[in-house]
Amino acid sequence: MKTLFALALIMSGAVVFFGCSTATPPDINLRYDQNQSFDYYETIDAYQKLSDYYSEASLIEMGISDTGKPLHLFMISGNSDFDPVSIKAKGKTIILIMNGIHAGEPVGIDASIQYAIDVLDNRDGAANVLENTVLAIIPVYNIDGSLNRSPYFRMNQDGPEVKGSRRNALNIDLNRDFVKQDSRASKSFASLFHYLDPDIFIDTHTTNGADHQFTMTLIPTLYQKLPPAMGEFFHKEMVATMYERMNSETPWGMCPYVQTIRRGDVRSGLTGFNDHPYFSSGYAALFNTFPFITETLVYKPFPDRVRSTIDFIRMLTEFSSENNEQIRTLRADAKQYTKHTREFVLDWSLDRSRHEPFYFRGYEMEESLSPVTGRTINIFNHDKPWEDTVAFYNYYLPSLKVEAPTAYIIPQAWDDVINRMELNGVKMNRLQQDSIIEVEIIFIDSFQASQRPNQGRQLISQATTRTRMVKRQFYQGDVIIYVNQDSNNYIVHMLEPLAPASFFSWGFFNSTLEDGEWFSLYSFENLAYEMLMNNPALLETFENMKASDHDFANDPLAQLQFLYDQLPQSDVVTSADFYPVSRIYHP
Ligand SMILES: [Zn+2]
Repeated sequence: MKTLFALALIMSGAVVFFGCSTATPPDINLRYDQNQSFDYYETIDAYQKLSDYYSEASLIEMGISDTGKPLHLFMISGNSDFDPVSIKAKGKTIILIMNGIHAGEPVGIDASIQYAIDVLDNRDGAANVLENTVLAIIPVYNIDGSLNRSPYFRMNQDGPEVKGSRRNALNIDLNRDFVKQDSRASKSFASLFHYLDPDIFIDTHTTNGADHQFTMTLIPTLYQKLPPAMGEFFHKEMVATMYERMNSETPWGMCPYVQTIRRGDVRSGLTGFNDHPYFSSGYAALFNTFPFITETLVYKPFPDRVRSTIDFIRMLTEFSSENNEQIRTLRADAKQYTKHTREFVLDWSLDRSRHEPFYFRGYEMEESLSPVTGRTINIFNHDKPWEDTVAFYNYYLPSLKVEAPTAYIIPQAWDDVINRMELNGVKMNRLQQDSIIEVEIIFIDSFQASQRPNQGRQLISQATTRTRMVKRQFYQGDVIIYVNQDSNNYIVHMLEPLAPASFFSWGFFNSTLEDGEWFSLYSFENLAYEMLMNNPALLETFENMKASDHDFANDPLAQLQFLYDQLPQSDVVTSADFYPVSRIYHP
Protein backbone atom coordinates (compact mmCIF):
# COMPACT_ATOMS: atom_id res chain seq x y z
CA MET A 1 0.00 0.00 0.00
CA LYS A 2 1.25 3.47 -0.86
CA THR A 3 1.07 6.16 1.79
CA LEU A 4 0.36 9.51 0.26
CA PHE A 5 2.68 12.24 1.37
CA ALA A 6 2.05 15.92 1.31
CA LEU A 7 4.99 17.47 -0.45
CA ALA A 8 5.34 21.00 0.73
CA LEU A 9 7.41 23.71 -0.84
CA ILE A 10 8.16 26.63 1.42
CA MET A 11 8.62 29.44 -1.08
CA SER A 12 10.22 28.87 -4.42
CA GLY A 13 13.76 27.51 -4.16
CA ALA A 14 13.41 26.87 -0.46
CA VAL A 15 13.63 23.65 1.53
CA VAL A 16 11.48 20.76 0.42
CA PHE A 17 10.13 18.36 3.02
CA PHE A 18 7.73 15.50 3.08
CA GLY A 19 4.62 15.53 5.23
CA CYS A 20 4.16 13.09 8.09
CA SER A 21 2.48 9.74 7.86
CA THR A 22 0.70 7.56 10.33
CA ALA A 23 2.46 4.42 9.09
CA THR A 24 6.08 3.76 10.07
CA PRO A 25 8.75 3.99 7.38
CA PRO A 26 10.00 0.67 6.01
CA ASP A 27 12.62 -1.15 8.02
CA ILE A 28 15.58 -1.69 5.69
CA ASN A 29 18.64 -2.96 7.49
CA LEU A 30 21.60 -2.44 5.22
CA ARG A 31 24.63 -4.29 6.56
CA TYR A 32 27.55 -2.64 4.77
CA ASP A 33 28.90 -1.58 8.17
CA GLN A 34 29.10 -5.29 9.00
CA ASN A 35 30.99 -5.96 5.75
CA GLN A 36 27.96 -7.44 3.99
CA SER A 37 26.30 -6.49 0.74
CA PHE A 38 22.61 -7.04 -0.03
CA ASP A 39 21.94 -9.88 -2.44
CA TYR A 40 19.63 -9.52 -5.45
CA TYR A 41 16.44 -10.49 -3.57
CA GLU A 42 17.17 -8.26 -0.57
CA THR A 43 17.92 -5.38 -2.93
CA ILE A 44 14.69 -5.63 -4.90
CA ASP A 45 12.74 -6.17 -1.67
CA ALA A 46 14.21 -2.94 -0.22
CA TYR A 47 13.21 -0.88 -3.27
CA GLN A 48 9.76 -2.51 -3.29
CA LYS A 49 9.24 -1.43 0.34
CA LEU A 50 10.35 2.13 -0.46
CA SER A 51 8.10 2.23 -3.50
CA ASP A 52 5.13 0.90 -1.47
CA TYR A 53 5.61 3.46 1.28
CA TYR A 54 6.61 6.68 -0.49
CA SER A 55 4.45 8.18 -3.20
CA GLU A 56 7.62 9.87 -4.50
CA ALA A 57 9.15 6.46 -5.28
CA SER A 58 8.40 3.99 -8.04
CA LEU A 59 9.74 0.54 -8.92
CA ILE A 60 9.02 -0.86 -12.37
CA GLU A 61 10.32 -3.67 -14.54
CA MET A 62 12.04 -2.77 -17.80
CA GLY A 63 12.97 -5.84 -19.82
CA ILE A 64 14.75 -8.92 -18.62
CA SER A 65 18.21 -10.24 -17.86
CA ASP A 66 19.72 -13.28 -19.54
CA THR A 67 18.53 -15.56 -16.73
CA GLY A 68 14.95 -14.36 -17.19
CA LYS A 69 14.75 -12.19 -14.06
CA PRO A 70 13.35 -8.71 -14.67
CA LEU A 71 15.60 -5.66 -14.93
CA HIS A 72 14.25 -3.07 -12.49
CA LEU A 73 14.16 0.70 -12.61
CA PHE A 74 13.63 2.60 -9.36
CA MET A 75 12.82 6.31 -9.50
CA ILE A 76 12.47 9.12 -6.97
CA SER A 77 10.57 12.14 -8.22
CA GLY A 78 9.53 15.06 -6.00
CA ASN A 79 6.02 15.41 -7.33
CA SER A 80 5.51 11.70 -8.06
CA ASP A 81 5.85 12.29 -11.80
CA PHE A 82 7.70 9.31 -13.25
CA ASP A 83 7.16 10.04 -16.93
CA PRO A 84 10.51 11.16 -18.44
CA VAL A 85 8.88 13.38 -21.07
CA SER A 86 6.77 15.18 -18.52
CA ILE A 87 9.70 15.41 -16.06
CA LYS A 88 11.77 17.18 -18.73
CA ALA A 89 8.89 19.44 -19.66
CA LYS A 90 8.93 20.56 -16.02
CA GLY A 91 12.58 21.60 -16.40
CA LYS A 92 14.12 18.85 -14.27
CA THR A 93 17.26 16.82 -14.93
CA ILE A 94 17.38 13.03 -14.68
CA ILE A 95 20.34 11.22 -13.10
CA LEU A 96 20.66 7.52 -13.85
CA ILE A 97 22.73 5.40 -11.46
CA MET A 98 23.57 1.86 -12.52
CA ASN A 99 24.91 -0.70 -10.07
CA GLY A 100 26.41 -4.17 -10.06
CA ILE A 101 27.36 -4.41 -13.74
CA HIS A 102 30.31 -6.30 -12.30
CA ALA A 103 28.39 -8.05 -9.56
CA GLY A 104 31.62 -8.76 -7.71
CA GLU A 105 31.97 -4.99 -7.20
CA PRO A 106 28.74 -4.33 -5.32
CA VAL A 107 29.46 -1.00 -3.53
CA GLY A 108 26.89 0.90 -5.58
CA ILE A 109 24.13 -1.64 -4.84
CA ASP A 110 24.21 -0.81 -1.12
CA ALA A 111 25.17 2.85 -1.63
CA SER A 112 22.18 3.54 -3.88
CA ILE A 113 19.70 1.98 -1.43
CA GLN A 114 21.21 4.10 1.36
CA TYR A 115 21.04 7.29 -0.70
CA ALA A 116 17.45 6.53 -1.75
CA ILE A 117 16.50 6.15 1.93
CA ASP A 118 18.33 9.38 2.81
CA VAL A 119 16.48 11.33 0.11
CA LEU A 120 13.05 9.82 0.73
CA ASP A 121 13.42 10.28 4.48
CA ASN A 122 14.83 13.79 3.86
CA ARG A 123 17.82 13.17 6.14
CA ASP A 124 19.87 16.38 6.55
CA GLY A 125 17.75 18.02 3.88
CA ALA A 126 18.71 15.38 1.30
CA ALA A 127 15.33 15.80 -0.41
CA ASN A 128 16.21 19.35 -1.51
CA VAL A 129 17.74 17.99 -4.71
CA LEU A 130 14.32 16.78 -5.82
CA GLU A 131 13.24 20.30 -6.62
CA ASN A 132 15.33 20.19 -9.80
CA THR A 133 16.38 16.59 -10.16
CA VAL A 134 14.84 13.15 -10.57
CA LEU A 135 16.81 10.10 -9.46
CA ALA A 136 16.69 6.91 -11.49
CA ILE A 137 18.44 3.81 -10.17
CA ILE A 138 19.12 0.41 -11.73
CA PRO A 139 19.31 -1.59 -8.47
CA VAL A 140 21.37 -4.43 -9.99
CA TYR A 141 22.30 -4.56 -13.67
CA ASN A 142 24.20 -7.85 -13.91
CA ILE A 143 21.43 -9.87 -12.27
CA ASP A 144 22.87 -13.17 -13.53
CA GLY A 145 26.20 -12.42 -11.87
CA SER A 146 24.61 -11.20 -8.65
CA LEU A 147 22.70 -14.49 -8.26
CA ASN A 148 25.99 -16.38 -8.50
CA ARG A 149 27.66 -15.46 -5.18
CA SER A 150 30.89 -16.54 -3.52
CA PRO A 151 33.48 -15.22 -1.07
CA TYR A 152 36.08 -15.98 -3.74
CA PHE A 153 34.81 -13.81 -6.61
CA ARG A 154 36.60 -10.49 -7.31
CA MET A 155 39.40 -11.57 -4.96
CA ASN A 156 41.67 -9.25 -2.97
CA GLN A 157 38.91 -6.85 -2.01
CA ASP A 158 38.71 -5.74 1.59
CA GLY A 159 35.12 -6.99 1.83
CA PRO A 160 32.26 -7.61 1.47
CA GLU A 161 32.19 -11.19 2.72
CA VAL A 162 30.24 -12.52 -0.26
CA LYS A 163 29.72 -11.01 -3.70
CA GLY A 164 28.53 -11.89 -7.20
CA SER A 165 30.51 -12.79 -10.29
CA ARG A 166 31.88 -10.49 -12.98
CA ARG A 167 30.34 -11.98 -16.11
CA ASN A 168 26.71 -12.71 -16.93
CA ALA A 169 24.87 -15.89 -17.92
CA LEU A 170 26.41 -15.77 -21.41
CA ASN A 171 29.83 -15.44 -19.77
CA ILE A 172 30.29 -12.02 -21.35
CA ASP A 173 31.35 -8.83 -19.61
CA LEU A 174 28.38 -6.46 -19.78
CA ASN A 175 30.80 -3.55 -19.61
CA ARG A 176 32.00 -4.45 -23.11
CA ASP A 177 28.49 -5.06 -24.48
CA PHE A 178 27.01 -1.56 -24.64
CA VAL A 179 27.10 -1.10 -28.40
CA LYS A 180 27.08 -4.64 -29.79
CA GLN A 181 24.30 -5.62 -27.37
CA ASP A 182 24.59 -9.39 -27.61
CA SER A 183 22.96 -9.92 -24.20
CA ARG A 184 19.31 -9.52 -23.26
CA ALA A 185 20.55 -7.32 -20.41
CA SER A 186 22.18 -4.88 -22.85
CA LYS A 187 19.09 -4.77 -25.03
CA SER A 188 16.96 -4.07 -21.95
CA PHE A 189 19.43 -1.41 -20.88
CA ALA A 190 19.29 0.29 -24.29
CA SER A 191 15.50 0.55 -24.06
CA LEU A 192 15.70 1.88 -20.51
CA PHE A 193 18.46 4.36 -21.36
CA HIS A 194 16.62 5.82 -24.35
CA TYR A 195 13.32 5.87 -22.43
CA LEU A 196 14.94 8.04 -19.74
CA ASP A 197 17.47 9.92 -21.91
CA PRO A 198 19.36 10.74 -18.69
CA ASP A 199 21.26 14.01 -18.35
CA ILE A 200 23.85 12.41 -16.08
CA PHE A 201 24.87 8.76 -15.83
CA ILE A 202 26.88 7.01 -13.10
CA ASP A 203 28.14 3.41 -13.37
CA THR A 204 29.53 2.16 -10.02
CA HIS A 205 32.57 -0.16 -9.80
CA THR A 206 35.57 -1.21 -7.71
CA THR A 207 39.12 -1.42 -9.05
CA ASN A 208 42.44 -3.00 -8.13
CA GLY A 209 45.94 -2.06 -9.29
CA ALA A 210 48.25 0.45 -7.62
CA ASP A 211 47.54 1.17 -3.95
CA HIS A 212 47.29 4.79 -2.78
CA GLN A 213 45.53 6.98 -0.23
CA PHE A 214 42.31 7.73 -2.17
CA THR A 215 39.21 5.62 -1.56
CA MET A 216 37.48 6.79 -4.73
CA THR A 217 38.89 6.93 -8.26
CA LEU A 218 37.01 8.32 -11.23
CA ILE A 219 36.63 7.73 -14.97
CA PRO A 220 34.78 10.63 -16.51
CA THR A 221 34.35 10.24 -20.27
CA LEU A 222 37.08 11.91 -22.35
CA TYR A 223 35.72 15.43 -22.39
CA GLN A 224 36.94 16.00 -25.95
CA LYS A 225 34.36 13.45 -27.09
CA LEU A 226 31.46 15.68 -26.09
CA PRO A 227 30.34 18.62 -28.25
CA PRO A 228 32.66 21.59 -27.43
CA ALA A 229 30.50 23.63 -25.02
CA MET A 230 29.29 20.56 -23.21
CA GLY A 231 32.81 19.11 -23.00
CA GLU A 232 34.19 22.38 -21.65
CA PHE A 233 31.56 22.54 -18.90
CA PHE A 234 32.04 18.84 -18.10
CA HIS A 235 35.82 19.21 -17.73
CA LYS A 236 36.11 22.63 -16.10
CA GLU A 237 32.97 22.71 -13.97
CA MET A 238 31.37 19.34 -13.35
CA VAL A 239 34.39 17.04 -13.04
CA ALA A 240 36.58 19.73 -11.43
CA THR A 241 33.90 20.43 -8.80
CA MET A 242 33.56 16.73 -8.03
CA TYR A 243 37.34 16.39 -7.42
CA GLU A 244 37.30 19.55 -5.35
CA ARG A 245 34.36 18.53 -3.16
CA MET A 246 35.33 14.87 -2.77
CA ASN A 247 38.81 15.94 -1.63
CA SER A 248 37.85 18.87 0.60
CA GLU A 249 34.49 17.80 2.03
CA THR A 250 34.88 14.04 2.56
CA PRO A 251 37.52 11.90 4.28
CA TRP A 252 37.73 9.58 1.25
CA GLY A 253 39.43 11.72 -1.38
CA MET A 254 39.18 11.08 -5.10
CA CYS A 255 41.80 10.81 -7.85
CA PRO A 256 41.62 9.88 -11.51
CA TYR A 257 41.34 6.15 -12.22
CA VAL A 258 44.99 5.15 -12.00
CA GLN A 259 46.57 4.60 -15.41
CA THR A 260 50.18 5.66 -15.58
CA ILE A 261 52.72 6.59 -18.23
CA ARG A 262 55.18 4.04 -16.77
CA ARG A 263 53.48 0.95 -15.36
CA GLY A 264 52.81 1.23 -11.63
CA ASP A 265 54.66 4.55 -11.33
CA VAL A 266 52.24 7.40 -10.58
CA ARG A 267 55.13 9.92 -10.50
CA SER A 268 55.68 9.24 -14.22
CA GLY A 269 52.26 10.79 -14.81
CA LEU A 270 48.59 9.78 -14.79
CA THR A 271 46.66 9.42 -18.04
CA GLY A 272 42.98 9.86 -18.86
CA PHE A 273 41.03 6.80 -19.93
CA ASN A 274 39.92 6.40 -23.55
CA ASP A 275 36.47 4.96 -22.84
CA HIS A 276 35.43 3.41 -26.15
CA PRO A 277 31.69 3.24 -26.82
CA TYR A 278 31.52 -0.40 -25.72
CA PHE A 279 32.07 0.82 -22.14
CA SER A 280 29.11 2.30 -20.27
CA SER A 281 30.50 5.83 -20.16
CA GLY A 282 31.59 5.77 -23.81
CA TYR A 283 28.11 4.61 -24.78
CA ALA A 284 26.38 7.33 -22.73
CA ALA A 285 28.69 9.96 -24.26
CA LEU A 286 27.48 8.97 -27.76
CA PHE A 287 24.08 10.31 -26.73
CA ASN A 288 25.37 13.50 -25.10
CA THR A 289 24.78 12.35 -21.54
CA PHE A 290 27.35 13.46 -18.92
CA PRO A 291 28.90 10.07 -17.96
CA PHE A 292 30.93 8.85 -14.98
CA ILE A 293 32.35 5.52 -13.91
CA THR A 294 33.21 5.44 -10.22
CA GLU A 295 35.91 2.97 -9.20
CA THR A 296 36.48 2.59 -5.46
CA LEU A 297 39.84 1.06 -4.52
CA VAL A 298 39.71 -2.65 -3.51
CA TYR A 299 42.20 -2.25 -0.66
CA LYS A 300 39.94 0.14 1.30
CA PRO A 301 37.37 -1.38 3.71
CA PHE A 302 33.98 -2.13 2.17
CA PRO A 303 32.03 0.21 4.51
CA ASP A 304 34.30 3.13 3.46
CA ARG A 305 33.92 2.26 -0.20
CA VAL A 306 30.13 2.25 0.15
CA ARG A 307 30.20 5.59 1.99
CA SER A 308 32.47 7.20 -0.58
CA THR A 309 30.12 6.01 -3.33
CA ILE A 310 27.15 7.49 -1.45
CA ASP A 311 29.04 10.78 -1.13
CA PHE A 312 29.91 10.83 -4.82
CA ILE A 313 26.30 10.16 -5.85
CA ARG A 314 25.01 12.75 -3.37
CA MET A 315 27.46 15.46 -4.43
CA LEU A 316 26.91 14.90 -8.12
CA THR A 317 23.14 15.01 -7.58
CA GLU A 318 23.55 18.26 -5.64
CA PHE A 319 25.73 19.68 -8.41
CA SER A 320 23.12 18.68 -10.94
CA SER A 321 20.40 20.35 -8.92
CA GLU A 322 22.46 23.54 -8.52
CA ASN A 323 23.29 23.69 -12.23
CA ASN A 324 20.03 22.35 -13.56
CA GLU A 325 19.40 25.10 -16.10
CA GLN A 326 22.87 25.03 -17.59
CA ILE A 327 22.99 21.23 -17.84
CA ARG A 328 19.70 21.16 -19.69
CA THR A 329 20.66 23.98 -22.06
CA LEU A 330 24.07 22.45 -22.82
CA ARG A 331 22.50 19.09 -23.61
CA ALA A 332 19.85 20.62 -25.84
CA ASP A 333 22.54 22.54 -27.75
CA ALA A 334 24.74 19.42 -27.90
CA LYS A 335 21.93 17.46 -29.48
CA GLN A 336 21.58 20.08 -32.20
CA TYR A 337 25.35 20.07 -32.70
CA THR A 338 25.42 16.27 -33.10
CA LYS A 339 22.48 16.34 -35.48
CA HIS A 340 24.16 18.81 -37.82
CA THR A 341 27.87 18.04 -37.57
CA ARG A 342 29.49 16.29 -40.55
CA GLU A 343 32.81 15.33 -39.00
CA PHE A 344 33.06 12.50 -36.49
CA VAL A 345 36.09 11.42 -34.48
CA LEU A 346 36.09 7.64 -34.18
CA ASP A 347 39.26 7.13 -32.15
CA TRP A 348 41.70 9.09 -30.01
CA SER A 349 45.33 8.91 -28.98
CA LEU A 350 46.98 10.36 -25.91
CA ASP A 351 48.65 13.75 -26.39
CA ARG A 352 51.90 13.40 -24.44
CA SER A 353 52.70 17.08 -24.81
CA ARG A 354 49.79 18.33 -22.71
CA HIS A 355 49.12 17.78 -19.04
CA GLU A 356 47.53 19.43 -16.03
CA PRO A 357 48.60 19.16 -12.38
CA PHE A 358 46.98 16.71 -9.97
CA TYR A 359 47.85 16.62 -6.28
CA PHE A 360 48.37 12.92 -5.59
CA ARG A 361 48.68 11.09 -2.29
CA GLY A 362 50.35 7.71 -2.73
CA TYR A 363 52.39 5.05 -0.97
CA GLU A 364 55.97 4.25 -1.90
CA MET A 365 56.24 1.16 -4.07
CA GLU A 366 58.97 -1.29 -3.04
CA GLU A 367 60.21 -4.57 -4.37
CA SER A 368 60.01 -7.63 -2.20
CA LEU A 369 60.50 -11.37 -2.57
CA SER A 370 57.30 -13.40 -2.38
CA PRO A 371 57.50 -15.96 0.44
CA VAL A 372 55.07 -18.10 -1.60
CA THR A 373 56.63 -18.20 -5.07
CA GLY A 374 60.00 -16.61 -4.53
CA ARG A 375 59.40 -14.14 -7.34
CA THR A 376 59.98 -10.41 -7.08
CA ILE A 377 56.76 -8.54 -6.32
CA ASN A 378 55.80 -4.89 -5.85
CA ILE A 379 54.34 -3.87 -2.52
CA PHE A 380 52.99 -0.49 -1.46
CA ASN A 381 54.46 0.50 1.90
CA HIS A 382 51.75 2.12 4.07
CA ASP A 383 54.48 3.35 6.43
CA LYS A 384 55.81 5.50 3.60
CA PRO A 385 53.01 7.74 2.36
CA TRP A 386 53.91 10.51 -0.11
CA GLU A 387 52.14 13.56 -1.54
CA ASP A 388 53.14 15.51 -4.58
CA THR A 389 51.84 17.24 -7.67
CA VAL A 390 51.98 14.84 -10.62
CA ALA A 391 51.30 15.38 -14.31
CA PHE A 392 47.84 14.29 -15.42
CA TYR A 393 47.84 13.65 -19.19
CA ASN A 394 44.15 14.08 -19.82
CA TYR A 395 44.13 15.37 -23.37
CA TYR A 396 43.61 13.15 -26.37
CA LEU A 397 44.04 13.96 -30.06
CA PRO A 398 41.77 12.64 -32.79
CA SER A 399 43.46 9.64 -34.41
CA LEU A 400 40.63 8.57 -36.72
CA LYS A 401 38.18 11.04 -38.27
CA VAL A 402 35.51 10.62 -40.91
CA GLU A 403 33.35 12.95 -42.93
CA ALA A 404 29.87 11.45 -42.67
CA PRO A 405 27.91 10.67 -45.83
CA THR A 406 24.35 11.91 -46.32
CA ALA A 407 23.12 8.43 -45.44
CA TYR A 408 24.12 4.79 -45.07
CA ILE A 409 22.28 1.98 -46.77
CA ILE A 410 22.12 -1.49 -45.20
CA PRO A 411 20.80 -4.50 -47.11
CA GLN A 412 18.03 -6.10 -45.06
CA ALA A 413 19.99 -9.37 -44.83
CA TRP A 414 21.91 -7.75 -41.96
CA ASP A 415 19.07 -8.06 -39.47
CA ASP A 416 21.26 -8.21 -36.37
CA VAL A 417 22.70 -4.82 -37.22
CA ILE A 418 19.38 -3.24 -38.20
CA ASN A 419 17.69 -4.47 -35.00
CA ARG A 420 20.39 -2.94 -32.84
CA MET A 421 20.13 0.36 -34.70
CA GLU A 422 16.39 0.37 -33.97
CA LEU A 423 17.00 -0.36 -30.28
CA ASN A 424 19.20 2.70 -30.10
CA GLY A 425 16.62 5.10 -31.40
CA VAL A 426 17.97 5.26 -34.96
CA LYS A 427 15.29 6.33 -37.43
CA MET A 428 15.35 4.44 -40.69
CA ASN A 429 13.57 4.37 -44.03
CA ARG A 430 12.83 1.22 -46.00
CA LEU A 431 13.23 1.16 -49.79
CA GLN A 432 9.77 1.02 -51.34
CA GLN A 433 10.93 -0.87 -54.44
CA ASP A 434 13.91 -2.67 -55.90
CA SER A 435 16.32 0.06 -57.00
CA ILE A 436 19.76 0.62 -58.47
CA ILE A 437 21.43 3.37 -56.47
CA GLU A 438 24.77 5.10 -56.90
CA VAL A 439 26.70 4.51 -53.69
CA GLU A 440 30.22 4.51 -52.35
CA ILE A 441 31.26 0.98 -51.51
CA ILE A 442 34.10 0.08 -49.19
CA PHE A 443 36.47 -2.74 -50.10
CA ILE A 444 38.30 -4.44 -47.26
CA ASP A 445 41.79 -5.04 -48.66
CA SER A 446 43.36 -6.57 -45.59
CA PHE A 447 42.53 -7.24 -41.95
CA GLN A 448 43.54 -9.15 -38.84
CA ALA A 449 41.10 -11.58 -37.19
CA SER A 450 41.57 -12.27 -33.48
CA GLN A 451 43.06 -15.68 -32.76
CA ARG A 452 40.87 -16.20 -29.70
CA PRO A 453 37.21 -15.40 -29.06
CA ASN A 454 36.64 -12.07 -27.32
CA GLN A 455 33.26 -11.45 -25.64
CA GLY A 456 31.86 -14.29 -27.72
CA ARG A 457 33.05 -12.83 -31.02
CA GLN A 458 35.98 -13.04 -33.41
CA LEU A 459 37.21 -9.46 -33.60
CA ILE A 460 38.51 -7.78 -36.74
CA SER A 461 41.23 -5.15 -36.52
CA GLN A 462 43.89 -3.34 -38.56
CA ALA A 463 41.68 -3.35 -41.65
CA THR A 464 42.77 -1.40 -44.70
CA THR A 465 40.10 -0.20 -47.08
CA ARG A 466 39.56 1.54 -50.40
CA THR A 467 36.37 3.00 -51.79
CA ARG A 468 34.72 3.29 -55.18
CA MET A 469 31.54 4.93 -56.45
CA VAL A 470 29.37 2.31 -58.17
CA LYS A 471 25.78 1.63 -59.11
CA ARG A 472 24.56 -1.10 -56.82
CA GLN A 473 21.44 -3.22 -56.76
CA PHE A 474 19.23 -2.86 -53.65
CA TYR A 475 15.89 -4.41 -52.88
CA GLN A 476 12.53 -3.39 -51.47
CA GLY A 477 12.88 -3.36 -47.67
CA ASP A 478 16.60 -2.46 -47.54
CA VAL A 479 17.30 0.22 -44.97
CA ILE A 480 18.44 3.81 -45.48
CA ILE A 481 19.72 5.67 -42.44
CA TYR A 482 20.18 9.43 -42.76
CA VAL A 483 22.99 11.03 -40.75
CA ASN A 484 20.82 13.85 -39.42
CA GLN A 485 19.64 12.44 -36.10
CA ASP A 486 20.08 12.53 -32.32
CA SER A 487 21.68 9.09 -32.71
CA ASN A 488 24.29 10.30 -35.25
CA ASN A 489 27.24 9.31 -33.06
CA TYR A 490 25.92 5.79 -32.64
CA ILE A 491 25.18 5.52 -36.38
CA VAL A 492 28.64 6.60 -37.50
CA HIS A 493 30.62 4.78 -34.78
CA MET A 494 28.78 1.54 -35.50
CA LEU A 495 28.65 1.63 -39.31
CA GLU A 496 32.09 3.01 -40.18
CA PRO A 497 34.07 -0.24 -40.43
CA LEU A 498 37.35 1.14 -39.08
CA ALA A 499 35.84 2.50 -35.85
CA PRO A 500 37.13 0.51 -32.85
CA ALA A 501 33.63 -0.36 -31.59
CA SER A 502 31.92 -0.79 -34.98
CA PHE A 503 29.78 -3.77 -35.91
CA PHE A 504 32.52 -4.66 -38.41
CA SER A 505 35.19 -4.63 -35.68
CA TRP A 506 32.98 -6.84 -33.50
CA GLY A 507 32.75 -9.41 -36.30
CA PHE A 508 29.11 -8.88 -37.34
CA PHE A 509 30.17 -8.89 -41.01
CA ASN A 510 32.73 -11.71 -40.89
CA SER A 511 30.90 -13.77 -43.52
CA THR A 512 31.71 -11.08 -46.09
CA LEU A 513 35.41 -11.62 -45.43
CA GLU A 514 35.20 -15.09 -46.92
CA ASP A 515 35.67 -15.51 -50.66
CA GLY A 516 32.58 -15.00 -52.76
CA GLU A 517 32.93 -15.22 -56.53
CA TRP A 518 35.98 -17.04 -57.78
CA PHE A 519 37.48 -18.31 -61.00
CA SER A 520 37.87 -21.96 -61.90
CA LEU A 521 41.48 -23.04 -62.24
CA TYR A 522 40.51 -25.59 -64.89
CA SER A 523 39.33 -23.12 -67.50
CA PHE A 524 40.66 -19.73 -66.45
CA GLU A 525 44.17 -20.28 -67.90
CA ASN A 526 42.70 -20.11 -71.44
CA LEU A 527 40.88 -16.85 -70.78
CA ALA A 528 43.97 -15.43 -69.05
CA TYR A 529 46.08 -16.22 -72.09
CA GLU A 530 43.56 -14.49 -74.38
CA MET A 531 43.50 -11.44 -72.11
CA LEU A 532 47.28 -11.07 -72.32
CA MET A 533 47.43 -11.63 -76.08
CA ASN A 534 44.70 -9.06 -76.73
CA ASN A 535 46.08 -6.40 -74.39
CA PRO A 536 49.78 -5.51 -74.90
CA ALA A 537 49.75 -2.99 -72.02
CA LEU A 538 48.44 -5.64 -69.62
CA LEU A 539 51.03 -8.12 -70.92
CA GLU A 540 53.79 -5.61 -70.23
CA THR A 541 52.56 -4.88 -66.71
CA PHE A 542 52.23 -8.60 -66.03
CA GLU A 543 55.76 -9.36 -67.26
CA ASN A 544 57.21 -6.43 -65.30
CA MET A 545 55.53 -7.67 -62.13
CA LYS A 546 56.96 -11.15 -62.63
CA ALA A 547 60.42 -9.69 -63.25
CA SER A 548 60.39 -7.38 -60.24
CA ASP A 549 58.47 -9.44 -57.67
CA HIS A 550 60.07 -12.77 -56.84
CA ASP A 551 57.09 -14.00 -54.80
CA PHE A 552 54.67 -13.08 -57.55
CA ALA A 553 56.83 -14.81 -60.13
CA ASN A 554 56.72 -18.03 -58.10
CA ASP A 555 53.00 -17.95 -57.28
CA PRO A 556 50.83 -19.08 -60.24
CA LEU A 557 47.66 -18.58 -58.19
CA ALA A 558 48.55 -14.96 -57.42
CA GLN A 559 49.22 -14.40 -61.12
CA LEU A 560 45.79 -15.78 -62.08
CA GLN A 561 44.13 -13.75 -59.31
CA PHE A 562 45.81 -10.59 -60.64
CA LEU A 563 44.46 -11.28 -64.12
CA TYR A 564 41.00 -12.13 -62.79
CA ASP A 565 40.94 -8.79 -60.97
CA GLN A 566 41.61 -7.04 -64.31
CA LEU A 567 38.37 -8.30 -65.84
CA PRO A 568 36.01 -5.41 -66.59
CA GLN A 569 33.51 -5.17 -63.73
CA SER A 570 29.85 -5.06 -64.45
CA ASP A 571 28.33 -1.59 -64.29
CA VAL A 572 26.11 -2.74 -61.43
CA VAL A 573 27.94 -4.34 -58.53
CA THR A 574 26.14 -7.34 -57.06
CA SER A 575 28.79 -9.57 -55.54
CA ALA A 576 29.58 -9.77 -51.86
CA ASP A 577 33.29 -9.14 -51.74
CA PHE A 578 33.00 -5.77 -50.06
CA TYR A 579 31.62 -4.28 -46.85
CA PRO A 580 27.82 -4.57 -47.20
CA VAL A 581 26.96 -1.16 -45.76
CA SER A 582 27.37 1.57 -48.38
CA ARG A 583 27.55 5.34 -48.20
CA ILE A 584 25.15 7.61 -50.06
CA TYR A 585 26.17 11.19 -50.86
CA HIS A 586 22.98 12.48 -52.45
CA PRO A 587 19.65 13.08 -50.82
ZN1 LIG B 1 34.17 -3.15 -12.71
